[in-house]
Amino acid sequence: MKLKIAIDGPSGSGKSTLAKNIAKALGLVYVDTGALYRTVGLYASRCGIAIDDAAKVAALLDGARVSLRYSDGTQRVYLGDEDVTELIRTPEISMYASAVSKVPAVRKYLLEVQKKMASEGGVVMDGRDIGTVIMPDADVKLFMDTDMQTRAQRRYEEMSQKGIESTREEVLRDMAKRDKNDSERDISPLTPADDAIFLDNSRMEPEETLAAALKIINDRLSRSI
Ligand code: C5P
Repeated sequence: MKLKIAIDGPSGSGKSTLAKNIAKALGLVYVDTGALYRTVGLYASRCGIAIDDAAKVAALLDGARVSLRYSDGTQRVYLGDEDVTELIRTPEISMYASAVSKVPAVRKYLLEVQKKMASEGGVVMDGRDIGTVIMPDADVKLFMDTDMQTRAQRRYEEMSQKGIESTREEVLRDMAKRDKNDSERDISPLTPADDAIFLDNSRMEPEETLAAALKIINDRLSRSI
Protein backbone atom coordinates (compact mmCIF):
# COMPACT_ATOMS: atom_id res chain seq x y z
CA MET A 1 0.00 0.00 0.00
CA LYS A 2 1.29 3.44 -0.89
CA LEU A 3 0.68 5.62 2.10
CA LYS A 4 -0.83 9.10 1.90
CA ILE A 5 -0.44 11.40 4.88
CA ALA A 6 -1.93 14.90 4.99
CA ILE A 7 -0.71 17.57 7.39
CA ASP A 8 -2.53 20.89 7.61
CA GLY A 9 -2.22 23.82 9.96
CA PRO A 10 -1.36 27.49 10.29
CA SER A 11 2.03 29.01 9.55
CA GLY A 12 4.79 28.30 12.03
CA SER A 13 3.05 25.26 13.48
CA GLY A 14 5.95 22.97 12.64
CA LYS A 15 4.18 21.22 9.75
CA SER A 16 7.20 21.13 7.49
CA THR A 17 9.60 19.89 10.20
CA LEU A 18 7.12 17.18 11.12
CA ALA A 19 6.40 16.26 7.50
CA LYS A 20 10.13 15.98 6.72
CA ASN A 21 10.69 13.80 9.79
CA ILE A 22 7.75 11.54 8.93
CA ALA A 23 9.01 11.24 5.36
CA LYS A 24 12.42 10.14 6.66
CA ALA A 25 10.98 7.72 9.21
CA LEU A 26 8.53 6.07 6.81
CA GLY A 27 10.39 6.39 3.51
CA LEU A 28 7.85 8.75 1.92
CA VAL A 29 8.25 11.70 -0.43
CA TYR A 30 7.72 15.06 1.29
CA VAL A 31 5.66 17.57 -0.70
CA ASP A 32 5.67 21.15 0.62
CA THR A 33 2.67 22.70 -1.13
CA GLY A 34 3.24 26.15 0.42
CA ALA A 35 6.35 26.41 -1.79
CA LEU A 36 4.06 26.43 -4.84
CA TYR A 37 2.01 29.37 -3.54
CA ARG A 38 5.20 31.15 -2.52
CA THR A 39 6.58 30.73 -6.05
CA VAL A 40 3.44 32.25 -7.57
CA GLY A 41 3.83 35.03 -4.98
CA LEU A 42 7.43 35.60 -6.09
CA TYR A 43 6.26 35.69 -9.69
CA ALA A 44 3.57 38.27 -8.84
CA SER A 45 6.11 40.40 -7.03
CA ARG A 46 8.55 40.21 -9.94
CA CYS A 47 5.78 41.16 -12.37
CA GLY A 48 5.29 44.32 -10.31
CA ILE A 49 1.80 43.36 -9.18
CA ALA A 50 0.72 45.21 -6.02
CA ILE A 51 0.03 42.86 -3.12
CA ASP A 52 -3.49 44.24 -2.72
CA ASP A 53 -4.18 43.56 -6.39
CA ALA A 54 -3.22 39.89 -6.35
CA ALA A 55 -6.15 39.04 -8.63
CA LYS A 56 -4.12 40.55 -11.47
CA VAL A 57 -1.77 37.58 -11.26
CA ALA A 58 -4.49 35.35 -12.73
CA ALA A 59 -4.03 36.94 -16.15
CA LEU A 60 -0.31 36.20 -16.10
CA LEU A 61 -0.38 32.61 -14.84
CA ASP A 62 0.26 31.02 -18.21
CA GLY A 63 3.74 32.52 -18.21
CA ALA A 64 4.53 31.40 -14.67
CA ARG A 65 5.65 27.78 -15.23
CA VAL A 66 5.88 26.60 -11.63
CA SER A 67 7.20 23.08 -11.08
CA LEU A 68 8.52 20.78 -8.37
CA ARG A 69 11.63 18.68 -8.87
CA TYR A 70 13.41 16.29 -6.55
CA SER A 71 17.15 16.19 -5.99
CA ASP A 72 18.47 13.49 -3.59
CA GLY A 73 14.97 13.13 -2.22
CA THR A 74 14.74 16.86 -1.42
CA GLN A 75 12.09 19.05 -2.99
CA ARG A 76 13.23 22.00 -5.11
CA VAL A 77 10.78 24.47 -6.61
CA TYR A 78 11.27 26.11 -9.98
CA LEU A 79 9.96 29.21 -11.67
CA GLY A 80 10.63 28.43 -15.32
CA ASP A 81 14.21 27.08 -15.28
CA GLU A 82 15.22 28.99 -12.16
CA ASP A 83 15.55 27.19 -8.83
CA VAL A 84 13.80 29.59 -6.41
CA THR A 85 13.71 27.25 -3.37
CA GLU A 86 15.59 29.66 -1.10
CA LEU A 87 14.36 32.93 -2.62
CA ILE A 88 10.73 32.27 -1.63
CA ARG A 89 11.41 32.26 2.12
CA THR A 90 11.44 36.03 2.77
CA PRO A 91 8.70 37.78 4.81
CA GLU A 92 7.70 39.76 1.70
CA ILE A 93 7.09 36.60 -0.31
CA SER A 94 5.21 34.99 2.61
CA MET A 95 2.71 37.85 2.43
CA TYR A 96 2.50 37.64 -1.36
CA ALA A 97 1.89 33.88 -1.12
CA SER A 98 -0.94 34.45 1.30
CA ALA A 99 -2.45 37.14 -0.98
CA VAL A 100 -2.29 35.12 -4.21
CA SER A 101 -3.56 31.96 -2.50
CA LYS A 102 -7.07 33.38 -2.26
CA VAL A 103 -7.33 33.91 -6.04
CA PRO A 104 -9.42 31.04 -7.48
CA ALA A 105 -7.38 30.91 -10.73
CA VAL A 106 -4.17 30.46 -8.72
CA ARG A 107 -5.60 27.58 -6.70
CA LYS A 108 -6.91 25.96 -9.87
CA TYR A 109 -3.53 26.38 -11.57
CA LEU A 110 -1.70 24.68 -8.68
CA LEU A 111 -4.30 21.95 -8.18
CA GLU A 112 -3.09 19.73 -10.99
CA VAL A 113 0.54 19.39 -9.88
CA GLN A 114 -0.59 18.67 -6.31
CA LYS A 115 -3.24 16.14 -7.35
CA LYS A 116 -0.69 14.38 -9.53
CA MET A 117 1.77 14.01 -6.63
CA ALA A 118 -1.10 12.87 -4.40
CA SER A 119 -2.30 10.25 -6.87
CA GLU A 120 1.14 8.66 -7.01
CA GLY A 121 0.96 7.98 -3.25
CA GLY A 122 3.90 7.29 -0.97
CA VAL A 123 3.68 10.92 0.12
CA VAL A 124 3.39 13.16 3.11
CA MET A 125 2.03 16.53 2.00
CA ASP A 126 1.68 19.67 4.07
CA GLY A 127 -0.38 22.78 3.46
CA ARG A 128 -3.75 24.30 4.31
CA ASP A 129 -6.22 22.22 2.27
CA ILE A 130 -4.50 18.86 1.93
CA GLY A 131 -6.97 16.84 3.99
CA THR A 132 -10.00 18.66 2.60
CA VAL A 133 -9.21 19.22 -1.11
CA ILE A 134 -5.91 17.73 -2.32
CA MET A 135 -6.00 14.32 -0.59
CA PRO A 136 -9.48 13.82 0.87
CA ASP A 137 -8.66 10.09 0.63
CA ALA A 138 -5.47 10.35 2.75
CA ASP A 139 -4.86 7.42 5.10
CA VAL A 140 -4.11 9.78 7.97
CA LYS A 141 -4.91 13.49 8.31
CA LEU A 142 -3.17 15.54 10.96
CA PHE A 143 -4.15 19.09 11.87
CA MET A 144 -1.56 21.09 13.79
CA ASP A 145 -3.07 23.03 16.65
CA THR A 146 -0.16 25.08 17.98
CA ASP A 147 -0.58 28.27 19.99
CA MET A 148 0.15 31.57 18.31
CA GLN A 149 2.97 32.78 20.61
CA THR A 150 4.87 29.52 20.15
CA ARG A 151 4.42 29.67 16.38
CA ALA A 152 5.65 33.27 16.21
CA GLN A 153 8.68 32.50 18.40
CA ARG A 154 9.61 29.46 16.28
CA ARG A 155 9.23 31.39 13.04
CA TYR A 156 11.32 34.26 14.44
CA GLU A 157 14.13 31.87 15.44
CA GLU A 158 14.00 30.11 12.06
CA MET A 159 14.28 33.42 10.22
CA SER A 160 17.14 34.64 12.45
CA GLN A 161 19.02 31.41 11.72
CA LYS A 162 18.58 31.97 8.01
CA GLY A 163 19.86 35.53 8.39
CA ILE A 164 16.49 37.05 7.42
CA GLU A 165 16.07 40.31 9.33
CA SER A 166 12.84 40.82 11.22
CA THR A 167 11.60 41.64 14.72
CA ARG A 168 9.39 39.45 16.92
CA GLU A 169 6.59 42.03 16.57
CA GLU A 170 6.79 41.94 12.77
CA VAL A 171 6.71 38.16 12.73
CA LEU A 172 3.69 38.11 15.05
CA ARG A 173 1.85 40.77 13.02
CA ASP A 174 2.51 39.03 9.67
CA MET A 175 1.51 35.68 11.11
CA ALA A 176 -1.80 37.01 12.47
CA LYS A 177 -2.55 38.55 9.08
CA ARG A 178 -1.74 35.33 7.21
CA ASP A 179 -3.82 33.27 9.67
CA LYS A 180 -6.76 35.57 9.02
CA ASN A 181 -6.32 35.48 5.22
CA ASP A 182 -5.93 31.71 5.19
CA SER A 183 -8.86 30.96 7.48
CA GLU A 184 -11.33 33.46 6.09
CA ARG A 185 -10.88 33.09 2.33
CA ASP A 186 -13.87 31.74 0.40
CA ILE A 187 -12.02 29.03 -1.48
CA SER A 188 -10.23 26.15 0.29
CA PRO A 189 -9.81 27.95 3.62
CA LEU A 190 -7.58 26.53 6.32
CA THR A 191 -9.98 24.21 8.08
CA PRO A 192 -9.61 20.72 9.53
CA ALA A 193 -11.15 17.84 7.60
CA ASP A 194 -13.95 16.06 9.48
CA ASP A 195 -11.70 13.05 10.00
CA ALA A 196 -8.54 15.03 10.90
CA ILE A 197 -6.72 14.29 14.14
CA PHE A 198 -5.55 17.37 16.07
CA LEU A 199 -1.96 17.51 17.24
CA ASP A 200 -0.99 20.32 19.62
CA ASN A 201 2.81 20.47 19.66
CA SER A 202 3.08 23.82 21.53
CA ARG A 203 5.04 22.18 24.36
CA MET A 204 6.82 19.53 22.29
CA GLU A 205 10.28 19.29 20.78
CA PRO A 206 10.40 18.09 17.14
CA GLU A 207 11.32 14.52 18.19
CA GLU A 208 8.35 14.40 20.56
CA THR A 209 6.04 15.72 17.84
CA LEU A 210 7.34 13.02 15.49
CA ALA A 211 6.80 10.31 18.12
CA ALA A 212 3.24 11.54 18.77
CA ALA A 213 2.50 11.67 15.03
CA LEU A 214 3.90 8.18 14.40
CA LYS A 215 1.74 6.84 17.20
CA ILE A 216 -1.36 8.44 15.64
CA ILE A 217 -0.41 7.05 12.22
CA ASN A 218 0.16 3.53 13.58
CA ASP A 219 -3.09 3.58 15.54
CA ARG A 220 -5.02 4.80 12.51
CA LEU A 221 -3.48 2.24 10.18
CA SER A 222 -3.93 -0.69 12.55
CA ARG A 223 -7.61 0.23 12.91
CA SER A 224 -8.15 0.29 9.16
CA ILE A 225 -6.63 -3.16 8.50
O1 C5P B 1 3.11 26.73 4.27
P1 C5P B 1 3.62 28.11 3.91
O2 C5P B 1 3.60 29.05 5.06
O3 C5P B 1 4.92 28.05 3.21
O4 C5P B 1 2.56 28.64 2.84
C1 C5P B 1 2.61 29.95 2.32
C2 C5P B 1 1.21 30.43 2.02
O5 C5P B 1 0.67 29.66 0.94
C3 C5P B 1 0.20 30.29 3.16
O6 C5P B 1 0.15 31.43 3.99
C4 C5P B 1 -1.11 30.08 2.46
O7 C5P B 1 -1.72 31.32 2.18
C5 C5P B 1 -0.73 29.45 1.13
N1 C5P B 1 -1.03 28.01 1.06
C6 C5P B 1 -2.32 27.63 0.72
N2 C5P B 1 -2.62 26.32 0.57
C7 C5P B 1 -1.70 25.37 0.76
C8 C5P B 1 -0.37 25.74 1.14
C9 C5P B 1 -0.09 27.08 1.30
O8 C5P B 1 -3.19 28.49 0.56
N3 C5P B 1 -2.01 24.09 0.58
